[in-house]
Amino acid sequence: MKVRINYAICNSCGLCREVCPEWAITQKYLEPRHLYEVHAEKCTGCGECLEYCPAPGAFIQYDGQLS
Ligand code: SF4
Ligand code: SF4
Repeated sequence: MKVRINYAICNSCGLCREVCPEWAITQKYLEPRHLYEVHAEKCTGCGECLEYCPAPGAFIQYDGQLS
């Protein structure tokens, strides 16, 4: 399952970007709070980010289809 970020919960700590082995998570520099985003084409669904994210529910898992 790939992941995407729920911005209502994410606190922009950046830990997920640090731990992602695929470098699939980057900063959205134009966002005022430096929110992060997951690049779906790079995400392998390994789940590493889910292990480290301190904000429960900040990641949403989905089947890989961008609806
Ligand atoms: S599931 Fe794995 S590859 Fe996808 S964003 Fe999280 S750490 Fe990166
Ligand atoms: S680790 Fe969780 S709270 Fe921190 S930036 Fe990533 S999604 Fe947001």
